[in-house]
Amino acid sequence: SGKFFVGGNWKCNGTKESISKLVSDLNGAKLEPDVDVVVAPPFVYIDQVKNSLTDRIEIAAQNSWIGKGGAFTGEISVEQLKDIGCKWVVLGHSERRHVIGEDDQFIGKKAAYALSEGLGVIACIGELLNEREEGKNFRCLFSTNEGFCSWDNVVIAYEPVWAIGTGKVASPQQAQEVHVAVRDWLRKNVSAEVASKTRVIYGGSVNGGNCAELAKQEDIDGFLVGGASLKGPEFATIVNSVT
Ligand code: 13P
Repeated sequence: SGKFFVGGNWKCNGTKESISKLVSDLNGAKLEPDVDVVVAPPFVYIDQVKNSLTDRIEIAAQNSWIGKGGAFTGEISVEQLKDIGCKWVVLGHSERRHVIGEDDQFIGKKAAYALSEGLGVIACIGELLNEREEGKNFRCLFSTNEGFCSWDNVVIAYEPVWAIGTGKVASPQQAQEVHVAVRDWLRKNVSAEVASKTRVIYGGSVNGGNCAELAKQEDIDGFLVGGASLKGPEFATIVNSVT
């Protein structure tokens, strides 16, 4: 459902020098035309990337503030992100939830505000290992999704926490099962149209070797890639796994 979408989440990695190399590898890579490709550099390198990366690839931020800018030390506003050319923001990533302590409500507010300002949102969800073992195999989207003005600009990233950065990728069947559950949730809580149109992408130890099997699953509409997105040729392989 929808165009294949592959995002590279660079997290808190890179230097001016390594990012310049990564950008030049991406600029030289052959990318399937029918795929939306987005990279999320650390804030401080967004301008460098924007000024050197091909327009073929869009830019996402890794976070944004819940409202207009002002006296919020250390935060970055949606308006500022748009000003420097970002089209997307990654929100609700497990590292922000579980390492930094953001909750569903706070994330919901950020997402609603970003969408109201026309920024696309890559909304991350995903269970902890103990939640999976208890049978709660995916965390509910947001407690405050009713604040969304529209779902047109939302991509949902299912990233099981036990698969992130661990090398333990979900099996294609495990991912497919949760993606179907996410769509069911959307059908019940939003609408049938949103359930069928919204792209649900998978993240967690995706690499050049396992992407093809995952991409074959009917409800996997793309990937959010961490570690492997720091290597241009491997990231291109993942983009080109579209079926
Ligand atoms: P890894 O691909 O390094 O497991 O990270 C996944 C992720 O968190 C993408 O947002």
